[in-house]
Amino acid sequence: MEGGHPETILPPLNCCRYTSEQDCVEALIALKWPNGYICPRCAHPHCSRLTTRRIPLFECGKCAYQTSPLVGTIFEGTHLPLLKWFQAMELFLLPDGISAMRLSRVIHVTYKTAWLMLHKIRHAIGEFDTRELLSGDVKVNSDLYGFDPSRGQLLYSRSSAVVAGCTVTDAGEPEHVKIQLVPQNRREIRRANRRELAAFITENVEIRTSEIQSFPIAYRLYTPLRKVVREAWGSLRSTYVALGRKYLQAYLNEYTVRRRLRLSGGKATMSHKLLCICVAIPTISYHQLIARIPNPPLVAAA
Ligand SMILES: [Zn+2]
Repeated sequence: MEGGHPETILPPLNCCRYTSEQDCVEALIALKWPNGYICPRCAHPHCSRLTTRRIPLFECGKCAYQTSPLVGTIFEGTHLPLLKWFQAMELFLLPDGISAMRLSRVIHVTYKTAWLMLHKIRHAIGEFDTRELLSGDVKVNSDLYGFDPSRGQLLYSRSSAVVAGCTVTDAGEPEHVKIQLVPQNRREIRRANRRELAAFITENVEIRTSEIQSFPIAYRLYTPLRKVVREAWGSLRSTYVALGRKYLQAYLNEYTVRRRLRLSGGKATMSHKLLCICVAIPTISYHQLIARIPNPPLVAAA
């Protein structure tokens, strides 16, 4: 179940650089074909633009193949105005993100639609981040998500063992962070062992170009990275009141990728990078999504 803080003030939606459907369509076309249109079937560079539909179609001048700028993006097959998607992406980039409930109220869509939009964006950034390995000065912690070491206790019932890894700036600050849940028995929370740390490194680190230090022992973790895991917990808890474990990995990816986008520059840069990711990653259908994430909160839609 998701909740929120209705009293919190949202930024006005006109902060979005795109103010019309046409703006959004043109932005997508520019990202899809940065060097001009190229036929996806025969690579012919000339086309005619058919503008009778909501989203223009491009017809190849040689083989007559028709394609839409939405093909191969997370927007493919959407019936919503693109402007609502662009607004959703802006709100997704708020410091702590946005719950589906709030998004549904702000952009005037059903709860189910808002839930699906946010999960499609999460899917895109998760896929994107999987392809970007950690490289350079890399630290890896065997940590617990939802654990307060100062009180020596688990902060809430959905605590989980994680392996966290990061690249580190010259100043010693975590830059590119990944937090991965460790599969475990529901009743017993234990830290990741050395084998699981090694598996994380194999999957997520560019080994040849990195100097890797791993921290398997609870009281000797790399402190700046442990801090990021705790910040992730605080941020996710403030936006999504109670996250089930089934959803948690997607939300952890949301937190770490948004954090990384924020480090990369100002608001316009963040928005542009998120849009690039959403254009580069093919969409996931509702059925694929719920196959991956069982028990979507549809009943709460209203
Ligand atoms: Zn063609």
